[in-house]
Amino acid sequence: MAKKIVTDLNVKGKKVLVRVDFNVPMKDGMITNDNRIVQALPTLKHLLNEGAKIIAFSHLGKVKTEEDKLTKTLKPVATRLAELLEQDVKFVPETKGAVLEAAINDMKDGQIIVFENTRFEAGETKNDPELGKYWASLGELFVNDAFGTAHRAHASNKGIAANLETAAGFLMEKEINFIGGVVEAPSRPLVAILGGAKVSDKIGVIENLIEKADKILIGGGMMFTFLKALDQNIGKSLLEEDKVALAKTLMEKAKAKGVKLILPVDVVTSKEFSNDADFRTVSVADIAPDEMGLDIGAESIALFSKELEGAKTVIWNGPMGVFEMSNFAKGTIGICETIAGLKGATTIIGGGDSAAAAMDLGFADQFTHISTGGGASLEYLEGKVLPGIESISEK
Ligand code: ADP
Ligand code: MG
Repeated sequence: MAKKIVTDLNVKGKKVLVRVDFNVPMKDGMITNDNRIVQALPTLKHLLNEGAKIIAFSHLGKVKTEEDKLTKTLKPVATRLAELLEQDVKFVPETKGAVLEAAINDMKDGQIIVFENTRFEAGETKNDPELGKYWASLGELFVNDAFGTAHRAHASNKGIAANLETAAGFLMEKEINFIGGVVEAPSRPLVAILGGAKVSDKIGVIENLIEKADKILIGGGMMFTFLKALDQNIGKSLLEEDKVALAKTLMEKAKAKGVKLILPVDVVTSKEFSNDADFRTVSVADIAPDEMGLDIGAESIALFSKELEGAKTVIWNGPMGVFEMSNFAKGTIGICETIAGLKGATTIIGGGDSAAAAMDLGFADQFTHISTGGGASLEYLEGKVLPGIESISEK
């Protein structure tokens, strides 16, 4: 699969529609984290340098009521984008119609406009073909750089792509190369580290990675369902009773495939889900009935680190413990440190909370790639076809 990327297009003097992911967190009309806008800059700057006319758009939040339309406007995003680009950005508070069309017709090469939240149109999330066709009619080429919505078939990605030559932006290209690379043709050994809250959220990921990985290391809350399947006492730890049989099946599957599936040997426990309560490290065999496991222990960190030695590709999804509380962050920090020290390995994080953990704990620069899409990266790791990617033109 070779998809067109933005550098494959001849954009000079052309009206280029750009689907970006400007779905930034907002509070009281203010942007609280502009990372997604920053991530869109390479593609936008490239197009401006090449003399394109950019028509950029995105969704922002969920739009269910008329009232949502007052608070979910992209106007503050356009203002921030102008600051980051150090150039005028015209904001058009419309999603279609004469005002928007006139603004586009007035554009000069190297200018950029942002139009209003795509979800103000009810047809957006239904991928209404008329809406996709209409938006496509506003430009001559389409660049999709919104990986965060690639798992959705919406009018602003798939719908437009059905009508125009479409290329991936640089951010989308990175995600295809890295996350797509893991599921398609990883350099081996491929080691997957899976954690996070629940087995049920990650069944698809585990099943797909059993087919691809050489080793799977399991930590986080989901490890207890696996330990339970091995008849261990797990006290009050997180358990998905109805997934115990599945955990057993997954372990058998891994064995049959010759994939090493490795569970922690010790855990950090507490009697309460709190950073103020006492905590201790015990062997997985010694979890008391009134204790819950909230992190992997030091021996497990050492074990996982040893198993990571020599890895050529590492994909990490799901924190090793309740990293939001400092007493239970050491497992996640330890694994980040080990991954940071691996030589010659491509190291990738997929998953919203895992990405947040790596950034909060100060490891953002230590990975080859941190995915920008939470749900999209999970579905990609499950081996699903993402409509936003599939609809990009072939080279
Ligand atoms: P991601 O968003 O990267 O896919 P998840 O959403 O699956 O990750 O999981 C993240 C959450 O898992 C974190 O909020 C973390 O506190 C929680 N978690 C990790 N280990 C445990 C544990 N042992 N018990 C309870 N929750 C845990
Ligand atoms: Mg999550």
